[in-house]
Amino acid sequence: MKNVLLESHVDSSVRVSTPVAVAFGDGIGPEIMKSVIGLIQAAGARIEYLPIELGQSVYNRGFTSGIEPAAWETIRSTGVLLKAPITTPQGGGFKSLNVTIRKTLGLYANVRPCSAYAPFVQTAHPKMNLVVIRENEEDLYAGIEHRQTDEVYQCLKLITRPGCEKISRYAFEYARAHGRKRVTCMTKDNIMKLTDGLFHKVFDEIGSEYPEIEKEHRIIDIGMARVASRPEEFDVILTPNLYGDILSDVASEIAGSVGLSPSSNIGDQCAMFEAIHGSAPDIAGQGIANPSGLLLAAVMMLVHIGQPEVATRVHNAWLKTIEDGIHTKDIFVAGVSDALVGTSGFADAVKDRLGKQPVKFAAVQYANQPVMKIQTAPMLRTAEVKTLVGIDIFVQWNSAVSELADRLRSAQTDRLQIQMVTNRGVKVWPGGFPETFCTDHWRCRFITDPYAEVSPAEVSELITNIYREKLDFIKAETLCLFDGNPGFSLGQGQ
Ligand code: NAD
Repeated sequence: MKNVLLESHVDSSVRVSTPVAVAFGDGIGPEIMKSVIGLIQAAGARIEYLPIELGQSVYNRGFTSGIEPAAWETIRSTGVLLKAPITTPQGGGFKSLNVTIRKTLGLYANVRPCSAYAPFVQTAHPKMNLVVIRENEEDLYAGIEHRQTDEVYQCLKLITRPGCEKISRYAFEYARAHGRKRVTCMTKDNIMKLTDGLFHKVFDEIGSEYPEIEKEHRIIDIGMARVASRPEEFDVILTPNLYGDILSDVASEIAGSVGLSPSSNIGDQCAMFEAIHGSAPDIAGQGIANPSGLLLAAVMMLVHIGQPEVATRVHNAWLKTIEDGIHTKDIFVAGVSDALVGTSGFADAVKDRLGKQPVKFAAVQYANQPVMKIQTAPMLRTAEVKTLVGIDIFVQWNSAVSELADRLRSAQTDRLQIQMVTNRGVKVWPGGFPETFCTDHWRCRFITDPYAEVSPAEVSELITNIYREKLDFIKAETLCLFDGNPGFSLGQGQ
């Protein structure tokens, strides 16, 4: 594939060894990628750069996924993608290409280190040095959304046991390989007892295999608040997808700038390296963006592809540049910084320092970093006995719940009797409160009492009856026991 932009700044005469797919992205993407590639080339990276196009220009050519088949092939054949940020339309429009890439390639672990660089980069938290490990494929990012009624929209939160096992193991292996002492898991399992509850439970299970590593769990709200106020108390933080996305931006910003933090997206076959920030359209084209996040992501990539000596050279030159006070606008503070530079000026300053060691910061050394051993195959378990005992039927209804209950009673079968009706999860029948606000979306629980197995034929009889009663059927969720334990939550107030 032709990429004029890339050809203009990558020296194709450089003989290379490791092929890497490179995407220049949108907004500030091309500016920062150009600087980063120039720098790692100057540092002696042995890379064959294979440009691919992603994002807006591809959407505009009619590829609604934002990526063409040839680009997929390049990424899959190299197994490594260095990617600048891309613009994702908000609200409607195309699906996020970032999420598509992470999920399609099985990049289940998103690793986001956030450190302070005090006193050279201003921060209230000079000792902070944490790593967010974010589950990267599941949760609300499954992107399964439906409009169900006039008033109600739904997004499915999917958490799987293999997904939890893989990311928990990754977090503990990461901690072990990087000499980190503690892994803190953050979820909201006091509210989402089944989904976040599973994430927490699996964290405890896998954690028991790592006795030398401290482990703790915090509820995400107070946990994230503590990261914002006392980040130095944290080491490795493990979260489901959405919390980790938010938490890592908070952590990066309080460390000094969202422009400083890199991330890797790791799977069994492929890996993608990018800054954590977006395409920053507000400053695109001005030559003032901080390339540090992408540069440090390239450092992570160099370690990943087996060039730790180049990674070390680049990272130490970057540290020296930061401590020399040569700063882009986002981290420049008069009286603290020495020189205000743009994107290319910063890259030139780092280039000038290749081969030098930082004096104030501790120098990094990647050569002896132990290799992580990740066993991603799910743990073996015997299948649990699954018993169908009821069904939640969701309907649209615009009148009083008492009238709805009458219709539901007419629809029930001998064994699948209406037990309760909830509205937005709150029990409103029998015995609801007039204060409870109700929308047009009702969950109607038909269940055996006491729990007993029902046949699919009884379930379909019930659904037929629902239609017969002219109820506006939206969807159904089966209610099952797993080894005798309910695989469903109670209604709020039940
Ligand atoms: P953003 O991260 O692009 O920008 C947030 C703020 O931080 C802006 O004020 C911006 O100027 C500043 N900023 C970001 N990176 C900077 C840098 N390197 N140097 C200096 N300042 C920097 O977030 P946004 O504005 O919410 O998102 C813009 C677009 O990027 C959206 O379309 C979003 O979907 C997309 N996005 C992409 C990725 C990705 O490709 N991985 C990640 C996040 C957001």
